This record gives sequence, C-alpha cells and structure tokens, in this order.
Amino acid sequence: MAVLHEAPAPTIDPSNPNILRWDGIGLMLIRDFITAAEEAAMIEAFHARDPLKEGDMKPKKRISQHFGHHFDYTTFGASETHFTPVPLYITSFLPRLPIQSYLPDQFTVQYYPPGSGIPPHVDTHSMFGEALYSLSFGSAVPMQFRMSGPNDARKMRLPKRSAQTDNTESTTSLALSEQSHKPDEEQTPTWELLLPARSLLLMTGPSRYGYTHAIRPRKTDVINGSTVQRQGRYSITMRSIRRGIEIGCDCAFPGVCDARIREEMAGGRDEVVSVP
Ligand SMILES: [Zn+2]
Repeated sequence: MAVLHEAPAPTIDPSNPNILRWDGIGLMLIRDFITAAEEAAMIEAFHARDPLKEGDMKPKKRISQHFGHHFDYTTFGASETHFTPVPLYITSFLPRLPIQSYLPDQFTVQYYPPGSGIPPHVDTHSMFGEALYSLSFGSAVPMQFRMSGPNDARKMRLPKRSAQTDNTESTTSLALSEQSHKPDEEQTPTWELLLPARSLLLMTGPSRYGYTHAIRPRKTDVINGSTVQRQGRYSITMRSIRRGIEIGCDCAFPGVCDARIREEMAGGRDEVVSVP
C-alpha cells in the first residue's frame, strides 16, 4: 500500500485563485477551466460517438476516442495519413490553453469507469513535445505523482517493456509495472493531487519528464476529509507530436528517458547508464 506524503504547496496566481502552480516541477492546475455547460456538451458529444447501450448509464469499460494526428506505432511517429478531425468541443477551448505558442495536435478522449485507474508511467519523451495537458471532466479523481527512481529506470530497460503497454493511453508511454512502485516509493515520496471535474492539468519540466503519474484503482476516494464513491470520469489528453529534427530528448532525467534508452541500446554496453 502506497505511503502518501503531503503534496507540495502550490503558488496561487494572484490574479486568479483558480490557477495553482508548482513552479519547481513545472506543474500547473487550472480549476474551472471549462464551464459546467461545456462539460455537459462534451459528455453528450462523446457518447454520440460511442452510444451508451440501453439502460447503461455507467459503461463498465474504458472507452477511448482519438482525434487529430494519430500516432503510428509502426514508424513510432506522427501519421500523416491517419487524421481524425478534431471536434468543436475541443477546438473551442484551445485558445484558452495557457501556452499559446505551443498547441497540441493530438487528442485522446477517454472514459474511465468508476474505480478504474492508470498504472504509474512517464509519457514518452522523444515523440511528444514538452507540454502535456489533461482536462478532467465528469468527476474528480486524485492523481499520484512520484519522482522516478532507479527501479523505474531498471523497469524501463526490461526487454519485455513493450509487452507491458496496453492498447489505450499508456501505449504512448513506457508503462511501468506495478512491482516497480514499491522500492522507489521508499526513496521518492508519492503524493496526490485532486483533479477536480472541469480542471486542466499542465505538465512541463520535471513533472513531465521525471515524475511518474498514476491513478490508483479504487472504489472510493477521500476528498477533503470525506469518503466519496468514485464516479465515471472523462479526460482529454493533449499532446503535440514531434516531427523530424524535433524528435529526441535531452532532458535531465535519463533514467526514464526513452531517447536515452534507445541510444544505450544502439551504443552498446559501455554507454549503458549505470542503475544502482
Ligand atoms: Zn528525456
């Protein structure tokens, strides 16, 4: 069972109390990024594409919808032929994203049934731009963050790691097995950040490149001191696909950097990063 540490205190934007920043790790949360009306329209649009079965108000399965440039897992790059037009409910909030110089071109909308989670992972560094956005809607969920450690690095170098990825959000990341969690937890603290419905999370810098993020599968969550039943949740993960010479990474976290791992594989044993 994870020992949870207290989350680091955010800096609250003086001009807007809904904007929380953890500047040291490049993390930002904007509460009420979308309105309740926008949220309702998004849920409706989502299920217009994947209709609910009669009487099934709470689907039991995870549902994923992909928009924009698809990621081609055979070439490990942006597909120029496989493009799904981005729906209006997404394009309409893009002008409100905090980093306008750097807009996402790949969108994954997902429905998570009540109780489901996402294993700890670091999204692939080399193929996606630095800014990763996650818009939550439908209900709140706590997300766990932990600075990656030697055991994460070891797990990411296992030859079978590609077999550990599932077919949804974490296909674009190097999923870390559950077993990797315990030993590193002893070295680097795990803490939770509540992602309220209608909030936007932005990961850059260390929170993007060095931290694992996860959602524990749980039936209930403790939110502001009270135990609440976890509800179905939707998220829109937004990334920008790196192309051509942009592909690669020189981040400060070689242990969990897919670009470095590929260099190690190509460069032979003498270049293998030592993992204590
Ligand atoms: Zn990297």
